[in-house]
Amino acid sequence: MGAQILDGKEVAKKVRAQVRREAKIFTEQTGQTPCLAVIIVGEDPASQIYVKNKKLACEKCGFLSREYALPETTTQQELIDLIRTLNSDAQVNGILVQQPLPKHMNVSQINEVIDPDKDVDAFHPVNTGKIMIGNAQLLPCTPAGILEMLDAYEIPIEGRECVVVGRSNLVGKPVAMLMLSRNATVTLCHSRTRDLAEITRRADILIVAIGRARMITADMIKPGAVVVDVGVNRTEAGIFGDVDFVPASEKASYITPVPGGVGRMTIAMLMRNTLAAAKIQAQKNKKE
Ligand code: NDP
Repeated sequence: MGAQILDGKEVAKKVRAQVRREAKIFTEQTGQTPCLAVIIVGEDPASQIYVKNKKLACEKCGFLSREYALPETTTQQELIDLIRTLNSDAQVNGILVQQPLPKHMNVSQINEVIDPDKDVDAFHPVNTGKIMIGNAQLLPCTPAGILEMLDAYEIPIEGRECVVVGRSNLVGKPVAMLMLSRNATVTLCHSRTRDLAEITRRADILIVAIGRARMITADMIKPGAVVVDVGVNRTEAGIFGDVDFVPASEKASYITPVPGGVGRMTIAMLMRNTLAAAKIQAQKNKKE
């Protein structure tokens, strides 16, 4: 029997509808419409598509959006100056700098300039630190989207064996922390892990964020496991995840497709963060 598909498109639609409803109430109560500012530097075609999709998602949620398209030659200081201007702009609730940035820029420094209360990607060290402690209000979008999807399908997490493959700051590490905070027993694997297949075969929930097309084969999956494939690999033959989808779906109980799985959730969670950021700022303004 084949696995049930974890349909990111459907769950994302529900998240957006909920965000839209809550945003309407927020606007009625505060007179403010949540606003996301997206900065893009250079002309990377994939980034341009992502920015367009984020703008569209804002429209669907009833948010305002602003786009700042800067030339490839923009200096680090010019980008920092723009972020600081947006930090102090009361109309802007969320600031997102589309990555990858041009090679001459220092990404960590840029992440640290964004006001943590407007950091809708949750890449600022203050926000990543809060994830460690377990009191984060803004969660990184892809990891949060994975948990949202598991919850939408009522997949139990507590006490289960969760294996995460990939330890990036963007996906692997934060999703491992979130699964831990939900009381899973978590193992985090990477390129130096020995006997990867032996470890992945233990997983009740297997989350894969490597960036190598079809690397996780069916023999690496425990029968009945839940498989979450974060990978997006563009090849001449098309777009593939990190999991060898067809044979893996014969083995798993639930599986995310690529595309149509985790990627859809990422933008929906960005919308949720933008609303959360607007609420945090409104709360702070009330206290002042
Ligand atoms: P990174 O390149 O930053 O990290 C990849 C991780 O995979 C590293 O920790 C690396 O280990 C590990 N790895 C590489 N090769 C192996 C191997 N042979 N065995 C075990 N582990 C290995 O990637 P990201 O986390 O940023 O992204 C991963 C994938 O997810 C990409 O395809 C990306 O496009 C996709 N992605 C999708 C998103 C979505 O919304 N759907 C959002 C973000 C990313 P080590 O640390 O030792 O080098």
